Amino acid sequence: MKLAALAWVVATSAQAADAIRPGVDYHSFANVDEFRVRHVALDLAVSFREKQLSGHADLTVHRQSPAARALVLDTRDLDIRSVSLLNNDSGSTPLVFKLGEEQKYLGKPLRIEMPAGTADSIVRIEYRSRPQASGLQWLTPAQTDGKKHPYLFSQSESIHARSWIPLQDSPQVRVTYSATIHAPDGLVAVMSAAHGPVGARPDAKGLTAYRFEMKQAIPSYLIAIAVGDIEFRAIGERTGVYAEPGVLDAAASEFADLERMVAACEKLFGPYRWGRYDLLILPPSAPYGGMENPRLSFITPTVIAGDKSLVALIAHELAHSWSGNLVTNATWRDFWLNEGFTVYLERRIVEALYGERRERMEDALGLQSLRRDLADLDPAHQQLALDLRNEDPDDGVTEVAYEKGKLFLQFLESRFGRDEVQAFLRGYFEHFAFPSIHTEQFLDYLRANLLAQKPGAVTAQQVQEWVYGPGIPALAVLPPQDVFKPIDGAREAWVAGSLATASLPARSWSTQEWLHFLDNLPQAVRGERLAELDKTFTLSKARNAEIALSWYRNTIRNDYAPAFPDIERYLTSIGRRKLVRPLYEELMKTPKGAAFARAVYARARAGYHPITVTSIDAIVSPQR
Ligand SMILES: [Zn+2]
Repeated sequence: MKLAALAWVVATSAQAADAIRPGVDYHSFANVDEFRVRHVALDLAVSFREKQLSGHADLTVHRQSPAARALVLDTRDLDIRSVSLLNNDSGSTPLVFKLGEEQKYLGKPLRIEMPAGTADSIVRIEYRSRPQASGLQWLTPAQTDGKKHPYLFSQSESIHARSWIPLQDSPQVRVTYSATIHAPDGLVAVMSAAHGPVGARPDAKGLTAYRFEMKQAIPSYLIAIAVGDIEFRAIGERTGVYAEPGVLDAAASEFADLERMVAACEKLFGPYRWGRYDLLILPPSAPYGGMENPRLSFITPTVIAGDKSLVALIAHELAHSWSGNLVTNATWRDFWLNEGFTVYLERRIVEALYGERRERMEDALGLQSLRRDLADLDPAHQQLALDLRNEDPDDGVTEVAYEKGKLFLQFLESRFGRDEVQAFLRGYFEHFAFPSIHTEQFLDYLRANLLAQKPGAVTAQQVQEWVYGPGIPALAVLPPQDVFKPIDGAREAWVAGSLATASLPARSWSTQEWLHFLDNLPQAVRGERLAELDKTFTLSKARNAEIALSWYRNTIRNDYAPAFPDIERYLTSIGRRKLVRPLYEELMKTPKGAAFARAVYARARAGYHPITVTSIDAIVSPQR
């Protein structure tokens, strides 16, 4: 496997002495060739007053090499109290440990001296997290829907699990896990795992214990927790929604198709292997649209549009139950294996549930969004396989992994046929279920199981161009944009002045049609025309968060003042990075906009998730 794998890379980086090595995780300190963690058992108390998780993690460690002496784990902002070896007689032996130097993006290595001999041992680490843990967000009651109780949720991808659990924080290490979480009385804890009986009485400290177990081996970035005033509503037999009580009704009706979605996905890509599929609707500060935590996807409330028009995001998170959670990228360089495949699956689900027209609109908008990203990216960041050494892997999150990855599968479809590609994917999910793989392992599998079926249909050179080349290859099969032809016609007539604002047939437009209309307006539109649009369709107060974003971009570009109070409300009430980042970027282009951005950010920052803060800090910095 290794030799063949290298052949793919040699062609692009033959002379480079520092050539990237496939399968090597440059974002982890863990010495995975010497020791492997197999199971993580957590016992953690949740303190909202201290903003900390405290307790212990018991790691079941397997020695890979007899000569291995030190176990190296990933940590970030953790206070380590003690490390010990659990003995069979339920006693323990202290182990010598040392935290290394802090490294940018990565945190600190925790080096534990292991006794010689035993192949398997259980290491207990007593520790606590710090309030600034990058993978946790501690919300005050004011930041929740109910305003009465605080809320905690995690976001471990890419490398933030280490900020709340000391472990081998690399996607190529898969662990089973169990947890006992002691939550303040009246609050409910949920995790990406099966839960034990609910309804235990609080202990003497007023804490209620919740028990969890994940029996399938998952990468660390899928370990997830949330604690808050959370209730559950069933949708189907194995599906349901968790949310704050005030959000539950809206969420349950928006995502009423959940059970059907799982069934559609199974029909296309094989059995759902995780038991239940539930959603947790997070407070509005959630930094991502969704996070595919197994059994329990974490979802932003900004996709609750009232008309199911943004549920493609749910299809996306569900699809990760195959691409990502079952077959996982081995390193963050291989992120496109998670995301490109998932977008491809997502579109198949959307098509099966909501029809071909809707799917083609999503495809067309996806391409527009990819082109916007490519315009701002240097060639090195336009490759599917990304060199992210010395970078924060969260910065690798662009449409390249998503939409260009999907275009690659679309290209294969055009050469081999849809049925063949879907059959190939079913086999791929089956073959690689539960290990983590890197780009070249996938390419080898592709060569043997699809390309070889029809020699010459796709050449190695073409694959090379897709995976290691910049931009969109000339041989890409691009989604036709004609699905938006009527919208283009209406826009052109409106811009030319031959169609009055009141005559725009927009009352019947779907979200996707609105996005296409707004995203493709000319750079300069006069204020009174924007005012007409706003007055006729109340765009500044749009309930749909995506339409609002597209509208605000136009208003900032044209300095349309009436929208600014609404932009401020938007930026201070939600924290999803995809929605707020483009607005800060647009604002920073003029001195007046920059002053506004800084003033708003000064108030919004405390309510944002650490991941969003990192991104916006870099945009709204005083140096710029
Ligand atoms: Zn995804």
